[in-house]
Amino acid sequence: MTNTQYIGRFAPSPSGPLHFGSLIAALGSYLQARAHHGQWLVRIEDIDPPREIAGASDAILKTLDAFGLHWDGDVLYQHTRSDAYQAQIEAWLKTGQAYYCQCTRKQIKDSGGVYSGICRHRALSSVEAAVRVCIEHPITEFVDVRHGIMPLDSAMASEDFIIKRRDGLFAYNLAVVLDDIEQGVTEVVRGADLIEPTGRQVSLYQKLGAEPVSYLHLPLALNADGNKLSKQNHAPAINNTRPGPAIEAALAFLGHPVPIELQGAPIPTLLGWGIENWQIEKLPAVTEVITAF
Ligand code: GLU
Repeated sequence: MTNTQYIGRFAPSPSGPLHFGSLIAALGSYLQARAHHGQWLVRIEDIDPPREIAGASDAILKTLDAFGLHWDGDVLYQHTRSDAYQAQIEAWLKTGQAYYCQCTRKQIKDSGGVYSGICRHRALSSVEAAVRVCIEHPITEFVDVRHGIMPLDSAMASEDFIIKRRDGLFAYNLAVVLDDIEQGVTEVVRGADLIEPTGRQVSLYQKLGAEPVSYLHLPLALNADGNKLSKQNHAPAINNTRPGPAIEAALAFLGHPVPIELQGAPIPTLLGWGIENWQIEKLPAVTEVITAF
């Protein structure tokens, strides 16, 4: 029976193929959704063309498929959502809840690193300008389903942050919140590298008067040098032709090692076992874990 109350999602950026770190986010969000008999959506976050690698979106979807991680409904591509992002920005500009800012990164760095809100009352034109949102009620903590209260940097929390960049690209925080609302997402499950921006996202929910989501941040996979596995530091793509060992390693990483008698079992059996035995209390209580995979 499907629980229509729970909607989860995996939202990769197509800046490269899936690596072990992104498999953790895919699998963790999938298991949490399916253990709740909920829906699991996939959204391709392709709002940053300069960082995109040609063919990465398709490669990611193929890998999910090969790993038996079948999503519900159609994939949402963020590049199709520009009108919605722009409409929200214009609504806020009109009501004085957002404003143009022409400060450069260097100016902000030289004045201490946190933007002061100096352009709020300058009535600048849109030429060569970013758009910032007015933050009236800074979010200095949020509750994470696994980690409890997560305190956030208060200077960062009160900053009027960018929702549209000077180069015309929409900012991640705006797009992710508008899309999660549009798709009816009820719980965001993702890597612990996204704990910091969560406060900004919660403040956008407040501004929009939208029902907040709950958050579960999964431990982050680190390589032996203690660096995050990421496309930027060339984490190897996972092997589509042998999904079993990667799924077993990802389950173990998430605190759910498969019993010996199931090792080497077909993917649907491994995933079925994962769904049945999924307990967030078993997730490592830390936000970072070194992995040898
Ligand atoms: N697109 C983001 C990434 O690949 C994840 C966004 C999210 O899960 O909120 O890092």
